[in-house]
Amino acid sequence: MLRKEKIEAQAVRAIDVKVLPLRRKNGKGIAGKCETARGIIQIYPKTINFCQVFKQKFGRNNFLVYAGNRARAALIHELLHLKYAKDEKTVRELTEDYFFIFAQKQATKNSEAFCIGTLIFNAKLS
Ligand SMILES: [Zn+2]
Repeated sequence: MLRKEKIEAQAVRAIDVKVLPLRRKNGKGIAGKCETARGIIQIYPKTINFCQVFKQKFGRNNFLVYAGNRARAALIHELLHLKYAKDEKTVRELTEDYFFIFAQKQATKNSEAFCIGTLIFNAKLS
């Protein structure tokens, strides 16, 4: 993706995976953040409550697949912000495209990734 979008690997200074969730002022959770000027990307988890409810509903394995793919989608999204800055619409469309290319490549290894992807994007990724 970086090659195709001509995003220099050096544009990424750091990727931080956070332990605690972050909320917007409107109360919605944030999956990731990108400081484009400094090249710093932060990936945030869902709340513990969300994770517990998800595990109860869909089981632990599906939860792990969900969490991994949500983080991947967030990383793709924030990497695209390095190039498209504030163009949220383009970033969202491309995130979906690249995520599903990734999910299809994984399909033989992990068929859940595709279904979970639909879940992630239908649940609106921030
Ligand atoms: Zn964004």
